[in-house]
Amino acid sequence: MAYDYDLFVIGGGSGGVRAARFTGPLGFRVGLAEEYRMGGTCVIRGCVPKKLLSYAAHGFEDVADLAGYGYDIAVKGFSWETLIAAKDKDIDRLEKAYQNTLTKNGVETFKARARLVDAHTVALRDTDTGEERTVTADKILLATGGRPTVPDMPGSEHAITSNEAFHLPSLPKQVVVYGGGYIAVEFASIFAGLGAETHLIYRGQQPLRGFDEDVRHFFLEQLDHLKNLTLHMGETITSLSRSDADGVLTVALASGASLQVEQAMFATGRTPNTPADLCLDGQIELTGKGAVKIDAFGQTTVPNIYAVGDVTDRVQLTPVALHEAMAFVKTVFQDTPTSMDHSNVATAVFANPEIAVCGLTEAEARAQYADIDVYQSSFRPMKNTLSGNPARSFMKLIVDRDSDRVLGMHMVGRDSAEMMQGFAVAIKMGAKKADFDATVGIHPTSAEEMVTMRKPV
Ligand code: NDP
Repeated sequence: MAYDYDLFVIGGGSGGVRAARFTGPLGFRVGLAEEYRMGGTCVIRGCVPKKLLSYAAHGFEDVADLAGYGYDIAVKGFSWETLIAAKDKDIDRLEKAYQNTLTKNGVETFKARARLVDAHTVALRDTDTGEERTVTADKILLATGGRPTVPDMPGSEHAITSNEAFHLPSLPKQVVVYGGGYIAVEFASIFAGLGAETHLIYRGQQPLRGFDEDVRHFFLEQLDHLKNLTLHMGETITSLSRSDADGVLTVALASGASLQVEQAMFATGRTPNTPADLCLDGQIELTGKGAVKIDAFGQTTVPNIYAVGDVTDRVQLTPVALHEAMAFVKTVFQDTPTSMDHSNVATAVFANPEIAVCGLTEAEARAQYADIDVYQSSFRPMKNTLSGNPARSFMKLIVDRDSDRVLGMHMVGRDSAEMMQGFAVAIKMGAKKADFDATVGIHPTSAEEMVTMRKPV
């Protein structure tokens, strides 16, 4: 049977765009539907705008640091409106770049919401006109990503999520951030850094569950020093209510206390976008968490339909979605079955301080290996000696004693992500501690600490 397309991609985020733009040039007919803006979570309301706000949030600290180096400068003011306008302009530029890349690579795009009619038929409802049409495709790729979730509680409609945080008309004077994951600690750092009275509320004792325990502990200690930030660990929000008279939001806590703030941002997790009309009423099976169930090659329970990225809820990171998309293209359109190796994926949390990790935590390494050695170091980075900034850095290496292989690497402190990317290559290649020891450091840097730790703790 002749289909309209060889591949139809649903979702114009990192995974979907990557798969489409690499399949088109192979000579296949490719279509892609995106209901909102091209670029998806990462570009439009995630990694990219977040990183821009994170850069901005270091401004006051950077200026204060310069005093120790002889500068006599004061910040005259900060304009959230200017920052958001500049950020929006750059996001518009990137959105256009994504669209151009697709067009250049022969992908036909639709600004439309897609639903599946059957395994080969996609109904497209135009976002602007509401008109519906159907197209057919041999292969279909689900790359619909995820969306923030807010726990059910009285007044939860007053909470914003990261989606809205990027478009607030002004910097809130006081803000509650709820959650203890990536997004919560990143936004708490942004709001506090920019000068908002910020409250981070988390139900556990230390944010970032799943990270190495020493990293969590060190990170929390450092976070506690951050100006304008108050930590409320072991606390939950029970309700929100906004006063009609003055617009103040009252955040009631399980402990009985309450906070009066302008905004409350919930970063309490994300859920895959898998509405029933995208899943052929159950033919495309889901996991218990509502993600699309796939095999090692991204194939769903309907053989011609595949899925990549956050909608599969494996590792919710853009570079992972990109690799999964490339594996899909090789498997389906280049006759080379390829499954992505999700081990040793380096990741970073762009909070203040920054965290970067690659490989296993100490607890995971202890569970999987008979004997491990742990090397760690905490130090004041050189820049902070003259600046007087009290922030410290932390580094940790976990090594399998039998093979000498480095199993995990963890960093907390400024520029951790930039340092980790290079080390991640070595870890992916199976570097041994002896390789680290044989590497000559660059002096004076923070990164040299990673190749000069000699004694296990
Ligand atoms: P996470 O799953 O990382 O964190 C969710 C947080 O919300 C956890 O601290 C969780 O607590 C808490 N939580 C969940 N449900 C409730 C509830 N009902 N009541 C109170 N608290 C609750 O999600 P995020 O939204 O922060 O991020 C999603 C993913 O996006 C990340 O896992 C990451 O992969 C990706 N991401 C990556 C970034 C990067 O690369 N820098 C940046 C941002 C996101 P508990 O720990 O107790 O379960």
